[in-house]
Amino acid sequence: MRQPAPVDRRLLGISTGRPPVLSELSGSNSRCGAADPPVACPTCPPGWHPPIQGPKTVATAIISDIHGNAVALRAVLADIDAKGVERIICLGDIIGYGPEPLAAADLVAERCEWSLMGNHDFGVLYEPTNFNPGAEAAAYWTRDRFDEEPDEALRTKRYEFLGSLKVRVVDQGMAEGRSVLAVHGSPRRPINEYIFPDDVINATDKMRNLFSMVDDFAIVGHTHVPGVFTDEPDFYPPSEIGSNSTYKFLADEKAIINVGSVGQPRDYDPRASYAIMYPDRVEFHRVDYDIEATAKQIRDEPELTDWLAERLLEGR
Ligand code: ZN
Repeated sequence: MRQPAPVDRRLLGISTGRPPVLSELSGSNSRCGAADPPVACPTCPPGWHPPIQGPKTVATAIISDIHGNAVALRAVLADIDAKGVERIICLGDIIGYGPEPLAAADLVAERCEWSLMGNHDFGVLYEPTNFNPGAEAAAYWTRDRFDEEPDEALRTKRYEFLGSLKVRVVDQGMAEGRSVLAVHGSPRRPINEYIFPDDVINATDKMRNLFSMVDDFAIVGHTHVPGVFTDEPDFYPPSEIGSNSTYKFLADEKAIINVGSVGQPRDYDPRASYAIMYPDRVEFHRVDYDIEATAKQIRDEPELTDWLAERLLEGR
């Protein structure tokens, strides 16, 4: 399986970050005139704007790629709860790789309004195809954990949950007046296709094709690299979109938003990644968790390769 390349910002030509948008900054007096500008507003005095506060009732927390890392998932759920966000959805790969697949599946089933099917969920439920040897061994190990559940009703319930995972969801209520297409991988191959940051340089036809299948926004996981793809095409990691990792939606702009991975980040930041979508913006969040605890669980399990522990510590 191809590993996502690290984000080379110079290659992407985005070292200065997302440029301010004129409509956000123009105003008739010394104020910029924007009700809700980026926190680091370049035209107004410090402290002029209140912190961005979303209408909590319509905020949606988006998690993805938990990969059986229940320690990370619990930390992310606690962070979401602390922010008062009640609606949570999941973009798939709940299991596979990680040491606590049952706990991860039970938590997602309990806490998420709906969840998508990722290639690893598919691989455990059906057959792991095109997996590298470590991932394939982890898929069979994970299936054994589901199979060895002694409570038959619980065992059946868990398999029914995996079987009920959706391939594709279109949500009209998440972003104001805009549709949001949710897939694990990509709009044209929902479970398996990766959209890599360097595709905006190396695969512009692919990006054009993908954006032709997106009405307004798409939300994806799969690469474990968070950020925003625009249809220029371009890619903006959360660190390049504003001081608070907030991407404000522009009128008529399409975007494909990758929320990163809760349980196995691969952007060299080992903290758990997730996002919160408000009607007018998406916020990217990182959460510290006890990585060593999950790493130890993996090392203690002979059928899970130690590499899976090492990569957690490095975030790759
Ligand atoms: Zn994944």
